[in-house]
Amino acid sequence: MRKKLFAGNWKMNLGPTESRELIAALRADLDRDAATLSRDREVMVAPPFLSIPAAAQALAGSSILLGAQNAHFEEKGAFTGEVSAPMLRYFGVSHVIVGHSERRHIFKEEDELVGKRAAAVAGHRMTPVLCVGETGRERDRGHTTEVVLRQLQFGLAPIGPQDSPRIIVAYEPVWAIGTGRTATPEQAQQVHAAIREALGDRFGKETADAVRILYGGSVTADNIDSLMAKPDIDGALVGGASLRADAFARIVRARIG
Ligand code: PEP
Repeated sequence: MRKKLFAGNWKMNLGPTESRELIAALRADLDRDAATLSRDREVMVAPPFLSIPAAAQALAGSSILLGAQNAHFEEKGAFTGEVSAPMLRYFGVSHVIVGHSERRHIFKEEDELVGKRAAAVAGHRMTPVLCVGETGRERDRGHTTEVVLRQLQFGLAPIGPQDSPRIIVAYEPVWAIGTGRTATPEQAQQVHAAIREALGDRFGKETADAVRILYGGSVTADNIDSLMAKPDIDGALVGGASLRADAFARIVRARIG
């Protein structure tokens, strides 16, 4: 059984104090059911870099996982403005988002760079959460699968078989991120199934069956149950709704199975 993962991407929101407050509220809600919830699901939050030390402290003793929103592929050096994988690991980060559509589109990160970042994360024994997804224009032109599988192929190119079971893929259609428009469960399932098939071609069926594929794009407490009902949707990467403890906790409590 693949445990579901509900991951909050806080983007450039919440400094250290606000991060502590949100985590405290989330823990007050989720920790009381931690034993039940942890049977079939995991929870992760990805604060901005500067809030990671405070978040790590606030998460002490909790099963909520600590994520980051990006990582450079080198360990150190002349890379102004970047943060490396070992720096994140030092603070207890276990998961790192790579190739988020905002990185791809606003900061022009290309497929190959995303792959290098993913490999560095995996190489430091953390889990890369590789984001893939088509723009509205690409979908309208019928290029969804081609775009998503190209991003997947490049993103995983430098990942060896030893690291492959640990990776997570997040399908995030760009037109659904922060727009209030969600892919229908059927649209998402179709892409997730194509991703799983491609993972099978690359790493074999056993690994493909073990890898979690999250959906992201305007996930809320109102649409999460129908998304989770689909066989290849293994959780959600949540932006806006992860900034409020009550809204995110309701998503984490999604109906499963
Ligand atoms: C995201 O940024 O990964 C995301 C899915 O955002 P939102 O939930 O706000 O659409």
